[in-house]
Amino acid sequence: MRNSKKLQKIKEIVNSVRWQEVKEEAVELLRKLIRIDTTNPPGNEKEAAELLSKYFSEYGIESQIVESEPQRSSVIANLEGKKDLKPIILLSHLDVVPANPSEWRFPPFSGEVKDGYIWGRGAIDCKGLAVVEAVAMTLIKRSGIKPDRGIKFISVADEEMGGEKGAKYVVENLDIDGFGVLNEGGTGVVLGNRKIYMPCFGEKGPLWLKIKAKGKPGHASMPHKDNPNLILVQALYKILKSDLGKKLSDGFISSAKFYLLDNKKSLSGLKLLLSLIEKSDFAKEILGKALSSLFYMLNKNKLSAMFSNTLSVTIMKSGYKENVIPEEAEAILDIRILPGYDHDEIIERMRKIVDDPRVSFEIISVYEPSQSNPVSDFMILLKEATSAVFETAFFPILATGFTDSRFFRKKGIPAYGFFPFFLTDEDLSTMHGIDERISMENIELGLKLMLAIILHICTEENSLLGL
Ligand SMILES: [Zn+2]
Repeated sequence: MRNSKKLQKIKEIVNSVRWQEVKEEAVELLRKLIRIDTTNPPGNEKEAAELLSKYFSEYGIESQIVESEPQRSSVIANLEGKKDLKPIILLSHLDVVPANPSEWRFPPFSGEVKDGYIWGRGAIDCKGLAVVEAVAMTLIKRSGIKPDRGIKFISVADEEMGGEKGAKYVVENLDIDGFGVLNEGGTGVVLGNRKIYMPCFGEKGPLWLKIKAKGKPGHASMPHKDNPNLILVQALYKILKSDLGKKLSDGFISSAKFYLLDNKKSLSGLKLLLSLIEKSDFAKEILGKALSSLFYMLNKNKLSAMFSNTLSVTIMKSGYKENVIPEEAEAILDIRILPGYDHDEIIERMRKIVDDPRVSFEIISVYEPSQSNPVSDFMILLKEATSAVFETAFFPILATGFTDSRFFRKKGIPAYGFFPFFLTDEDLSTMHGIDERISMENIELGLKLMLAIILHICTEENSLLGL
């Protein structure tokens, strides 16, 4: 196996850490961070950024706080590398989505510790990740190991409202470059009784679209064909019945070839088949359709959405009086677009399907889908490092949601989604939901993984084996 001596050494270093103490320190930091209410809107991330900056300074790590607006702070900490190599970027965000205390078992900004969990909004998304990244970075400093490649910690404001005042501001206003970004996104999951790491190599792009039907007003006692409600319902029916595009993304094919089939002689036929599929758009579309329908039938909606441009009708507005036919009706659609498709092309497709001049389409907002190479040097090192801590399967996937990773990808920096935890379906449902919490066990696992990842990506074999 590649790098086996180095990985053995990393394992030894990870095992030599006094985890009980370090875990307690991380838990305390996380509780403090949760207690700072950074609900966005309005965000108010300043105090949280200052807390992390102070934490870094306790270990002699330099940091800076940048403000896109008063109170909208992001924090950046640096550990220089010995060599002139692009740093690893450990990314997270400081803001959280709102929480309604009356629905929660414990107040959402209390950071309660109970039943082996730390409870609170942001416990996983994304303060839990920020803390694991920050503490792991200080562990490198404490160990006295001088990394060859630098480590850059960035925790930003405003992710939950689109990132304009956080990641976008940081990427556009500071001179940021990196070997690769580790951000929120994929995670370790439990499938049946098998554990598997599923980091994200890319994410779909959301298109929020307003569809407006213009008709003729009139008295409801005399129905006519230009009722905008009918026009809208017919248009939506046609769109929902149609296919907005399904595809097996190239990233899945290269992931399968590399992470599942590499070095497996008995499966070389399958690898060859995948290489053929890779060259045929037609085959990728057929497979995308098959996988999307299969998972949809099995009620695995998230998996189904990884192979399909999806559409949800989220808002409908029309009418004001029981007996009046209104002049207009509108619907808002949340469309999620796969990498490789263009939003204009999809709107054009819908326009043709609807084929009615009384219906207009207006973009409310759009973010392009984005992806990085799932078999980049960075990702392969990530896989090797995780296996040093926890030997298990590894398969990169596409995220159906969107994160700040897109701003870094746009700058040409590969970015990957990776919560270094094992999260159950229930854990995952608490993110943006009720009773968000993270187990102590996951904090410890996350710290170990993060330490191993940083060591593997940022140190060269010679400097590590010489220790
Ligand atoms: Zn998040």
